[in-house]
Amino acid sequence: MPELPEVEVTRQSFGDRIEGASVRSVHMGKPLRWPVGYDVDALHGWQVGKVLRRGKYLWLPLARSDGTQGGLLIHLGMSGSLSFSHRLPPAGVHDHFEMVTDKGTLRLTDPRRFGAVVWGPSMHEGVPGKLLAGLGLEPFDEALDGAYLHERLRGRSVAIKQALLAGDIVVGAGNIYACEALFRAGIDPRLPAGRVSKPRCEKLVREVQSVLQQAIALGGSSLKDFKDAHGAQGHFQLATQVYGREALPCRVCGTPIRRVLQGQRATFYCPICQKR
Ligand SMILES: [Zn+2]
Repeated sequence: MPELPEVEVTRQSFGDRIEGASVRSVHMGKPLRWPVGYDVDALHGWQVGKVLRRGKYLWLPLARSDGTQGGLLIHLGMSGSLSFSHRLPPAGVHDHFEMVTDKGTLRLTDPRRFGAVVWGPSMHEGVPGKLLAGLGLEPFDEALDGAYLHERLRGRSVAIKQALLAGDIVVGAGNIYACEALFRAGIDPRLPAGRVSKPRCEKLVREVQSVLQQAIALGGSSLKDFKDAHGAQGHFQLATQVYGREALPCRVCGTPIRRVLQGQRATFYCPICQKR
């Protein structure tokens, strides 16, 4: 599943190139997760603004020459990827959204169709506003620090790994990144969230930020068929410390890495390096 780093890498791969483009036409394939909620034929002539990311969503702002504002909120779902180019092959059976502009064509390829393209008057109103309302802080938001995390975890008995995954405190710590950040912070993923001390929360925030930064720098990760909008593949999976390494020796202490299930998701950790 494309996670925050892949979505950010995707944004970086086409955001500058599509900014200022004029929409010529929009074509929809099979239904995606939710209806667009707008007559896409009426988007002819609208101009694309600066592409933003919020969590795993991309916001493509659009403006008409008379000043009318709006935009499309895009989610890549389980298996989606975006391409942006002047020279794309003819649309195939898995291409379900295509925006032709004077700077190139933006295309969503999504075999499983859990992705979405949804209209809103802004990213804070309408359906986009509802979809983004429950999201936690961005991982690189200045307001995110150890004190904030500690305060939000207070009194919670759920395991720290699951508290991170929930995304209502901080977005972006998906399964791979939560496992990796907890290893780097030396925290047992099963520790009740409310028992993580403030200094350990500070360390954890730094490690969440650093692991996401590294994944973005390496071009995203997780899915082996993940591609950014240039068609380049991500490589973060090669560099994991614990994720996907069950029974292999810990890279720090040599102890076999353990795998447990937490809320139906696999957690990988080192029983020696990570403490309760
Ligand atoms: Zn270890």
